[in-house]
Amino acid sequence: MAKLIFEMSKPGRTAYSLPRCDVETCGSDVLIPEKYRRKKDAELPEVSETDVIRHFTELSRMNHGVDTGFYPLGSCTMKYNPKVNEDIAGMDGFRAVHPLQDDETAQGCIRILYEMDRMLSEITGMDRFSLQPAAGAHGELAGLLVIRAYHAHRGDTGRNKIIVPDSAHGTNPASAAMAGFEIIEVKSDERGGVDLEELKAAVGPDTAGLMLTNPNTLGLFDENIKEIADIVHDAGGLLYYDGANANAIIGVCRPGDMGFDVVHLNLHKTFSTPHGGGGPGSGPVGVKKELEPFLPVPLAEYDGKQYRLDYDRPLSIGRVRSFYGNFGVILRAYAYIRTMGPDGLRKVAENAVLNANYLMHRLKGHFDLPYDRTCMHEFVLSYGRHKETGVRTLDIAKMLLDYGFHPPTVYFPLIVSEALMIEPTETESLETLDLFADTLISIADEAERDPEKVRTAPHRAYTSRLDEVRAARNPVLVYVDEDTAE
Ligand SMILES: *Cc1c(COP(=O)(O)O)cnc(C)c1O
Repeated sequence: MAKLIFEMSKPGRTAYSLPRCDVETCGSDVLIPEKYRRKKDAELPEVSETDVIRHFTELSRMNHGVDTGFYPLGSCTMKYNPKVNEDIAGMDGFRAVHPLQDDETAQGCIRILYEMDRMLSEITGMDRFSLQPAAGAHGELAGLLVIRAYHAHRGDTGRNKIIVPDSAHGTNPASAAMAGFEIIEVKSDERGGVDLEELKAAVGPDTAGLMLTNPNTLGLFDENIKEIADIVHDAGGLLYYDGANANAIIGVCRPGDMGFDVVHLNLHKTFSTPHGGGGPGSGPVGVKKELEPFLPVPLAEYDGKQYRLDYDRPLSIGRVRSFYGNFGVILRAYAYIRTMGPDGLRKVAENAVLNANYLMHRLKGHFDLPYDRTCMHEFVLSYGRHKETGVRTLDIAKMLLDYGFHPPTVYFPLIVSEALMIEPTETESLETLDLFADTLISIADEAERDPEKVRTAPHRAYTSRLDEVRAARNPVLVYVDEDTAE
């Protein structure tokens, strides 16, 4: 194992050599009040510049990212993020702006927020967007609070239930519970869509709304979406669109036209921002006209001359985050949408769907395909041979690491046993897709020939199998010096 940077520390060693400063400066003792100052020095590693650079470069090489290899993690849209977006987000005028500046001095930034609202509304068929939520799940919470406020404002106070299909992303029921709703689960039918009979039985005067992902987490487009919308609307409920997986539909069809009233998007997925590993997110929430008064504040406005931030919205659910959301992520998404244009965005969806269907057809003879339909941006396989070989989906996923691939999402959605959920995205070439398919097929063959080898994979990765439960239950998040620990 590589040494931790703390273990390389030598007292007095420094990572810089600069000429002595020849102007008078005022130090922290003047600028920072006594009560906030450290009583003793911070325990930082004392290392050379070489050590620092090698340390961080080594860490980056131990990590798998979209820039190092294929990353077909289903439901996460790990596509390549064009570097021009980074350049734009890093421009001085954006990076150095302060959130407390007056509107007059931040016209360009507010214009970005305003135009982003307009563009996302156009893309989804909504009327207005709030860019505040900082992630998909956060957008869900904000959207559900808007639904709650809408019903309450109409005096329709008995609507306390949210309907969620059994194929839903786990954040859906969690967000609904957090917004104070009770959750009713409806089953999927044999084609992987919402079971209409179940839905009809579930709706009623207590229905606040239905949360749906379309295409859903099986990568399937619900063919009955119009009928679903009618059933929920006729019962007085609203339709919430989990648009985290909009990669399959942008430029092709719009949730607003399918009958949805509220939408959240994951800018960090569909609109190309590096994410994963806790990276920044942005989950704007958009609504139809009747729900606009309840959106979080502030919203960006334009009177033909000046851009301004509007806080004076009496029916708003209030703020859901400090300031204006994750502005850096919004900027990257803005740059992405403007550089792609409408035709480019449509191509994104077409190629994402084409790539997924190509891979699905290459793999379906070698794994089980529980829902054998044309898929959208992703598809779900099942490794059904585990009872004969003793090899599990997890083992196959671990073995992929030996070949330099990030594994697909496994064991999700919950309605498919031994699931492998594969989302290739539009930014991968035919050659990469073929190499991945060949590798996965060869691992399935290896599982027949030498199951033990697959069960003990990975063999060539930086680490073998970690105790993931212990890592989650007893995380060690700070450096502990074993020698001096009390
Ligand atoms: C990723 C995802 C979410 C949650 O988004 P976060 O930004 O991780 O909070 C919700 N729904 C679906 C379908 C997703 O794929």
